Amino acid sequence: MVRIDIISVLPELIESPFNASIIKRAIEKKIIEVHFHNLKDYASNKRKQVDDYQFGGGSGMVMMIEPINKCIDLLKTKRSYKEIIYMTPDGNMLTQKIANKLSIEGNLIVLCGHYKGVDQRVRDELITMEISIGDYVLSGGELPAAVLCDSIIRLIPGVLGDETSALSDSFQDDMLAPPVYTRPANFENLEVPKILLSGNKAKIEEWREEKALERTKKMRPDIFN
Ligand code: SAH
Repeated sequence: MVRIDIISVLPELIESPFNASIIKRAIEKKIIEVHFHNLKDYASNKRKQVDDYQFGGGSGMVMMIEPINKCIDLLKTKRSYKEIIYMTPDGNMLTQKIANKLSIEGNLIVLCGHYKGVDQRVRDELITMEISIGDYVLSGGELPAAVLCDSIIRLIPGVLGDETSALSDSFQDDMLAPPVYTRPANFENLEVPKILLSGNKAKIEEWREEKALERTKKMRPDIFN
């Protein structure tokens, strides 16, 4: 079973996405285990302090290396981890390719930053991979970590049923997904494309490929090859 350990100063910010829908089912089916660690539990001082002022001055607190090191060290004595990931806006942009790769690899630690981020020595010495979810800055790494974990977990074999198959989703073949329709076939004269009601599987597949191609060329020429 794959295990993800998420380290954060505000674990309550990230727990709810794991308590619903597909991810919840994956946990219940014991395909994946997710554990949350409150960094404050690893603080060495009485005030449970995990951040401090920046050397050299400047606004914003920086997360200290000691509690992070202690937490990661403890986890590593118990099992091996494929990657120790830091969520950060200056990391590698999360893509479907990265999610695919991480979904088949093994145990992961995901570190969420806060404030100004973590002491650079954490990044230099403890982290093996840095991931951003986009070119914008959020106040903490919890939402990015939830996004990363969701993108990975839904790809683990056995998590999605037929009704939500990941293979037909956008980005799997450098393509966007085709448009989809459901009942009613006619809503106030807005009709579903006839071909989808024809029952002709081969023709429907052809239509879907054509539409996916059209959509990709129009919306994302950058991924089209
Ligand atoms: N001072 C940092 C930003 C810190 S934001 C900088 O300018 O680069 C605080 C924390 O939120 C970060 O440590 C990171 O864990 C998280 N975070 C913010 N935006 C993010 C993004 N786009 N992707 C991933 N993590 C992000």
